[in-house]
Amino acid sequence: MKLRTARIIERLNALGEISDSKNCISRAYGTKAHTASGNLLIKWMQNISLQTYRDAIGNIRCILPSLNPNAKYFIIGSHYDTVFNAGKYDGPLGILLGLEVMQYISENNIQLPFHLSTIAFADEEGARYNTAYLGSSTISGHFDRCWLNRTDDHGVSLKEVLEANGGQVVNIDSDSIAREQLLGYFEPHIEQGPVLCNEDLSVCLVNGIASQTRVDVHWTGINGHAGTYPMNHRNDAFCAASEFSLAVEQIGKYNSDKLVATIGKLNIMPNTPNVIPGKVEHTLDIRSKDSSFLVEISRTLEDKAIEISKKRKIGLEWNILHSTPSVQCDEGLNQLIRNGMKKAGIHKTLEIPSGAGHDAVMISRIAPVSMLFIRCQEGISHNPLEYVTSEDIEKSLEVCDNFVHELIHQNS
Ligand SMILES: [Zn+2]
Repeated sequence: MKLRTARIIERLNALGEISDSKNCISRAYGTKAHTASGNLLIKWMQNISLQTYRDAIGNIRCILPSLNPNAKYFIIGSHYDTVFNAGKYDGPLGILLGLEVMQYISENNIQLPFHLSTIAFADEEGARYNTAYLGSSTISGHFDRCWLNRTDDHGVSLKEVLEANGGQVVNIDSDSIAREQLLGYFEPHIEQGPVLCNEDLSVCLVNGIASQTRVDVHWTGINGHAGTYPMNHRNDAFCAASEFSLAVEQIGKYNSDKLVATIGKLNIMPNTPNVIPGKVEHTLDIRSKDSSFLVEISRTLEDKAIEISKKRKIGLEWNILHSTPSVQCDEGLNQLIRNGMKKAGIHKTLEIPSGAGHDAVMISRIAPVSMLFIRCQEGISHNPLEYVTSEDIEKSLEVCDNFVHELIHQNS
């Protein structure tokens, strides 16, 4: 176990060295660093003689086949893209745990009643194209071709990036996996919250994932000279966006038992000290365990934005980028994880919902899904301070091993 844990840490460090920025970890979809990290994953997969390939969107996929050619697939997965200024563990840890489990099975010639696959998803964070789950939506057959026309901050389209990395748009559909071919899905991931630290536990079960809606909001006013334009005659797009942001906070706080709401990205134009802002574009991210409540709140917030735009005579565009309902994790798979935790000496099994979205959201459309959360120190993530102790990595590996062995036993 110690050697295998050390290998995971070594690989986490190696991936953490690959970045588009000199000062921090950044691997947004389709960049040089993103492609390089995918190549490294391919090398590791091939070194353990797994059938390995990169699909059109850039998912890195490997398979350890069952002797039964008609067997179903069981997938372990997580993502290898990152946000800007990321930590080393969010995403890669789940992939590397999957590879360790597969390597053990391969080296010990354990017969599989299902094809075991690990998929490193190309894009979960959505940092470049403001759309999460590009990778897993391809697998589930829910890739929306409209996304191909989306452009990044430099005007480069998703289609251009996909093709520059050797992907072919025509292959996206055939990269999906049919529901009837799938036995299930398992995603180990850092918790990204403080619960495991507070409970002094290495890992816990995830019972479900919150529903999430992401909106692109554009406010269009009129540019004007900051020195000459009277205050009462301005159409300041930033002031409209600011008023809206305070309304988002107020509505979020009022419903804090079941809602979180965030404006995390904002562009102000022309972004010049002496010009009244004529245009502001920002995101809105809202999440709740209750899918129908989230739909209701999304409408309330849109109405509020319309009210502000009319009052201030500022143009408004409201584009829902994506919306995913809440996901229930599969009880059958969860029971096997509980067994795996007990065998690993964890007798206190905690089960919590995930406020963060994960690839399991997309895969839940075609297969039963399950997740294991791993403690990250102080609950910090999306941050260079993100840290998982080697003891917790070792414990999570033990649980992953046990879980897959339970699954093999159940299906043999
Ligand atoms: Zn993640």
